[in-house]
Amino acid sequence: MRTVVLKALEEARSEKVIGKSLEAHVSLKVSPSIKQMLQQMSAPEKLFIVSKLDVLEGEDTHVSVEKASGDTCERCWHVKDDVGENQSFPMLCERCADVVATYDRAVLEEPAK
Ligand SMILES: [Zn+2]
Repeated sequence: MRTVVLKALEEARSEKVIGKSLEAHVSLKVSPSIKQMLQQMSAPEKLFIVSKLDVLEGEDTHVSVEKASGDTCERCWHVKDDVGENQSFPMLCERCADVVATYDRAVLEEPAK
């Protein structure tokens, strides 16, 4: 299945729908068992290195690729709708803003030696 998705991404790239795979929003139609498997993963979009992955149920496997909406996060390079929603980190997506905020706190709270 990964091969099928990667092939679709390759085609989308050659047709200039997307520049790199992180700009892609992939809609995947798969059998119920595969859908369940993907939903059990914490970040199935990482499997295909895309920004957004929708998993639908269907009898035949079908992949469609479109350009993800939103802006590019400066930290993870994913294209996401929530980039800029965190006012402290306007160039980052929510997930990265969280990570960076936690990291900042950890550094600040580190006791002096
Ligand atoms: Zn990010």
